[in-house]
Amino acid sequence: MRGDARVLVVGVGGLGCPALLALATAGVARITLCDDDVVDVTNLHRQILFHEADVGTAKLDAAARALRARAPGLDVRLHRARVLPDGAVALAREADVVLEGSDNFATKFLVADACRLSGTPVVHASAVRWVGTALAVGGGAGPCYRCVFEDVPFEDAPNCAEAGVMGPVVGVIAAAQADLALAMLDGVDVAGTLLTFDGHTGVLRRRLISRRADCPLCGPSPRIRRIDAASYVPPACAG
Ligand SMILES: [Zn+2]
Repeated sequence: MRGDARVLVVGVGGLGCPALLALATAGVARITLCDDDVVDVTNLHRQILFHEADVGTAKLDAAARALRARAPGLDVRLHRARVLPDGAVALAREADVVLEGSDNFATKFLVADACRLSGTPVVHASAVRWVGTALAVGGGAGPCYRCVFEDVPFEDAPNCAEAGVMGPVVGVIAAAQADLALAMLDGVDVAGTLLTFDGHTGVLRRRLISRRADCPLCGPSPRIRRIDAASYVPPACAG
């Protein structure tokens, strides 16, 4: 399976860069990169695919150069945009596993929903300050991202750009994210695995999450049956 595997990586930032390095040399056939940002000098310490000469250029171009140099046989494809509600399910369906390491909750929930609706396994990752998490979600019956984080938090939820994040914590979680994704490609049942790394104590915890009985995505009476664009923007901006 791994030799034919198609991987979608959403977000080529502090999490995506180290995860991509791990995946590129792990024997997958194709990696599609999804991002619309440019390389910023203030992020070079944790976005380890990039160099100072890349500053100001599209992340996807710089990342593709680095990955092709490292793994010449790898099929690297570029999706030069954020994941948007229109087309999200189709994008997820083209992959055997998705790695979601975006920097905002709207994208995280959109990718979670698109992967569930397309039946594609996904590994979510996030890191804020000294703590990072990785969550593996199978393509089948659950549990899912919304079993843990019910809905998009539009208030009082800092992202890593606002709160700051430690580069080593990002590296640990990105490696764990890539590891879980490769395990799923190899047929290992890691669905529902939640890894949490505390950079202050150096403790990596693993636990299995449970399916939430009233989960709006994977519960017995799911509220989310299709992608509704208004669900991923703050109410004041909807429409
Ligand atoms: Zn769920």
